[in-house]
Amino acid sequence: MVNEEKGSILIVDDQPANIHALANLLNGDYRILTATTAARALTLAGRDGGPDLILLDILMPDMDGYELCYRLKEDERTRHIPVIFVTALDHDAHEEKGFDLGAADYISKPFNPAIVRARVRNQVNLKRKTDLLERIALRDGLTEIPNRRQFDARLAEEWARLSRRPGSSPLSLLMIDVDHFKAYNDHYGHGAGDTALRRVAQALEGSLSRPADLVARYGGEEFVALLPETDLVGARHVGATMLAAVARLRIPHGHSTASPCLSISIGVATHDGESPQPSVEALKQAADQALYRAKIQGRNRVVD
Ligand code: GH3
Ligand code: MG
Ligand code: MG
Repeated sequence: MVNEEKGSILIVDDQPANIHALANLLNGDYRILTATTAARALTLAGRDGGPDLILLDILMPDMDGYELCYRLKEDERTRHIPVIFVTALDHDAHEEKGFDLGAADYISKPFNPAIVRARVRNQVNLKRKTDLLERIALRDGLTEIPNRRQFDARLAEEWARLSRRPGSSPLSLLMIDVDHFKAYNDHYGHGAGDTALRRVAQALEGSLSRPADLVARYGGEEFVALLPETDLVGARHVGATMLAAVARLRIPHGHSTASPCLSISIGVATHDGESPQPSVEALKQAADQALYRAKIQGRNRVVD
């Protein structure tokens, strides 16, 4: 669990002695990262699992702390990391400028160790709570895979990217529905149904190979996968991999006409990235219609 790990703090200052003083104060309670240049700070902050807090000096030769804070707040990957300015500039106007740029707090030098520790602790705790809430908001409670909200947001992003750069790469959408799941619940019980849904979700997620791919629970026993930069041939391949992964679970389903084991049907739709862009709704509808055909053709198959 995130909360049992130590938080990490990035200290940015061009003077190693200043970094040292803060690091000494904090390194018992946190994992400390350091940077003496703005460029290095941006690199460290932008990494996966980046810091929970950035302590930022204002006066630095290559790029001042204000500019660095602006860059951090502009970037999607680092926007959520709280920034505390640490500076000898002790003036309301400076403080105000820092807050305007999105700083979370301000510490002036020479600092009082107890106050620094308290301010740091407050920001790290707040960041961790926010992270936790965000995770809950974007994940499905039963299966723990991304939920529909996350899917909708990612689809909108990918769609906007296609609109900005028409003639670019294709985008595929898979609508996935568990076959005869009502009968499964009726015969094996709702609890067994829930367990089966969790296992199906894991099998679907395990079928994806690219970091940009996303599978989400769309609702009930329906899932959806978003495959950027994937053409129809690639999408059919992912669909077949998912079908096989669910079959390998070998969850007995004695009341399905499609298979002796729990199975899924998949509808595939692809936008080639070149022809005039239809609405995102049209792409979803195409995947839905393909899924409907998969159902009437006998289920347990991938149809486009
Ligand atoms: P088809 O092959 O045509 O998709 O038939 P189906 O029975 O799967 O489709 P239908 O839409 O009739 O039924 C879906 C069932 O999924 C109904 C509901 O009981 C079950 N279901 C939906 N969400 C959950 C859930 O969170 N847990 C469990 N256990 N069952 C669920
Ligand atoms: Mg359904
Ligand atoms: Mg179903």
